[in-house]
Amino acid sequence: MTWFKRQDKGISTPTESKKEAPDGLWYQCPSCKKIQHIREHSNNSWTCINCNYHERIDAARYFELIFDNNEFKEMDADMTSSDPLEFVDTKKYPERIKATIKKTGLKDACRTAYGQMNGSLIVISCMDFSFIGGSMGSVVGEKIARGMEKAMELNVPFLMISKSGGARMMEAGYSLMQMAKTSAKIALMDQKKVPYISLMTDPTTGGVTASYAMLGDFNISEPGALIGFAGPRVIRETIGKDLPEGFQSAEFLLEHGFLDFIVDRKELKEKLTKLLKMITK
Ligand SMILES: [Zn+2]
Repeated sequence: MTWFKRQDKGISTPTESKKEAPDGLWYQCPSCKKIQHIREHSNNSWTCINCNYHERIDAARYFELIFDNNEFKEMDADMTSSDPLEFVDTKKYPERIKATIKKTGLKDACRTAYGQMNGSLIVISCMDFSFIGGSMGSVVGEKIARGMEKAMELNVPFLMISKSGGARMMEAGYSLMQMAKTSAKIALMDQKKVPYISLMTDPTTGGVTASYAMLGDFNISEPGALIGFAGPRVIRETIGKDLPEGFQSAEFLLEHGFLDFIVDRKELKEKLTKLLKMITK
């Protein structure tokens, strides 16, 4: 059956445009409810083909979207959290960490890596929401600080992708210290003229918003992302007033001058490349 054999060589999808997705799986958009093939969805940078809803994705997927050929060097991949406060809630903190590592396959809520983006070197720290709500503990802070140091050492831009519920309560004060630590590194990057871009994704809240996420040379966001410090209920009770429509959405923040621009994930890599070309030599 000659017609059954592939005779023309070289008809194949280039590796960089292949996305890992098994056959026969479907994705239902939580926003418009449209059902689409998971491959169609992943080829669309995990945004809905119908309403453009941006699904929450992990660091591995952002790295795949941004680094050329998904090639990068990860830093401090094995760094894990200790238990300085011997914290216990429904579980002991070390047990919670151990269980989360097993469940998610991640070591903590942030990964840092460097590699080429359209042929130019960049350092990226990206948060993972599935690891205790993307909470910022000492490992997250340290990995980000070291990523920033790497960017200064290589004299290349630093990109932070935030996705976080805020500080990690099990590390209390140690968690809050990460805000100061990362902010100090950002000041150093500024002195050394190393560009810092902060991309906020859904959701970016609490101590993360109050520190590195809002300190970028450019503060940008994905469409529809929730960005804020405290939750709407707390604010409503504090100020004793109803909150305006769309409060804490990326679009609201853009309108009120907190963001420089909103970027569609499908255009993220190209827009970042263009932006960095404009501001670097
Ligand atoms: Zn949709």
